[in-house]
Amino acid sequence: MKSVEQYLASLKSRTVRLFMRGELVTDPIEHPLVAPSVRTVAETYRLAGLPEHRELFTAHSRFIDAPVNRFTHIFESPEDLTKKVMMQRVVGRFTGTCFQRCVGMDALNALYTVLHGGPYHARFVEFLRHVQREDLVLCGAMTDPKGDRKKGPLDQPDMYLRIVRRTKDSIVVRGAKMHQTGVVNSHWIVAMPGRTLTADERDFAVAFAVPVDARGVTLVYGRQPSDDRRAGCDIDQGNARYGGQEAVVLFEDVEVPLDHVFMAGETEVAAPLVDTFAGYHRQSYGGCKPGNGDVLIGASALLAKLAGVERAPHVRDKLVEMTHLNETMHAGGLACSSKCTKTPAGTYMVDPLLANVTKQNVTRMPYEMARLAEDIAGGLLVTLPAAEDFDHAEIGPLLRKYVTGALGSDEERRRALRLVETMTIGATAVAFRTESMHGAGSPQAQRMRIEQQGEFEAKIADAKRIAGIR
Ligand code: SF4
Ligand code: FE
Repeated sequence: MKSVEQYLASLKSRTVRLFMRGELVTDPIEHPLVAPSVRTVAETYRLAGLPEHRELFTAHSRFIDAPVNRFTHIFESPEDLTKKVMMQRVVGRFTGTCFQRCVGMDALNALYTVLHGGPYHARFVEFLRHVQREDLVLCGAMTDPKGDRKKGPLDQPDMYLRIVRRTKDSIVVRGAKMHQTGVVNSHWIVAMPGRTLTADERDFAVAFAVPVDARGVTLVYGRQPSDDRRAGCDIDQGNARYGGQEAVVLFEDVEVPLDHVFMAGETEVAAPLVDTFAGYHRQSYGGCKPGNGDVLIGASALLAKLAGVERAPHVRDKLVEMTHLNETMHAGGLACSSKCTKTPAGTYMVDPLLANVTKQNVTRMPYEMARLAEDIAGGLLVTLPAAEDFDHAEIGPLLRKYVTGALGSDEERRRALRLVETMTIGATAVAFRTESMHGAGSPQAQRMRIEQQGEFEAKIADAKRIAGIR
């Protein structure tokens, strides 16, 4: 397994084509907007190297007969699923944001499960071995731009990633993938179709892996709220050390050698692949978001203490409510993991209904938690002057006097306020709240599946039996 230093060196050895605010970025790793997200992914390496975290963060891989980072592991037991969620909570709590490595882990597991027994299986296992041996970060790329939602892929071809040419030993792909978490900090992109496909949509049934710096791949960095603060004072960032990252990935006639092609025309595989990936990724949110929630609860409780309101009954009740919501999200993640089933591939699949319920909760509960945190934080959350004002010779001492509360210094209060600010309306609110509205599917995507999986007829039969209705 790689050390943090080896991970950073491996990122530097790539020649990624990255645009940000209209400019080509020459050193993506050191760039102030990117660096926090790199440090966050790096924690998945660092924590795996600590003895106290080994149990959760590493696993034995039978594919290479060696210990691997759990982010590259195939879930081959119920414990693997549970440990995955527990690990995600640890990293979420340690960083307070999105650590970007789960989409690739879930893509690996979905592809392994779905390709089993098919013509691409052996090829995929070779790729998996490479990923495990090199301890790589993968960007799982599923979301197509989709354009006009009334139209399908055939009516607007470039709105869905597709094969534009086939040669004897490669395919050439064109299109884009949107909202790609952590792609700039990844080694490989693993692309998959994002929807069910009909038999005539063969060119869109494409799954493959390409290095992030493959010819024809361009990344365009997504803006985040208050990202201008990334270049300034650390206090006003709220979480200066860590951050998440999303980018648009453009594929301009990218040539993919066949040994990294895992689907090329098999439209019938698209639906089970999307479904399997969605199951695993909806489970993931039951780990990372409660970890982030821990940080928001901690910051809110700290603010209450600093203002001297920690014993006020309504404040205590708000902290209890935040905890209740947070643990409900985590309970779903653990429940769908333990109520799992073995697949023909030998992997374990989460309970799909519980995974959908988990993710549905994650599209709602962080919003309510954010409301409660903002309520506890009070008006200063959005009216606090800039750090530079507190450093000013004339007004600084006055501001420090008036911002100090019952306990601690003005700086402690400002730091806690900025942490709540970034998690509720700033740069890391993207990860805790708004990204998770659509990541792993919109709330409506889960509700459709919940309706299908809710077994209403069986429940009607039970009700009739008990009520004595024949
Ligand atoms: Fe992992 Fe959560 Fe980030 Fe998705 S949003 S990559 S599950 S930390
Ligand atoms: Fe996500």
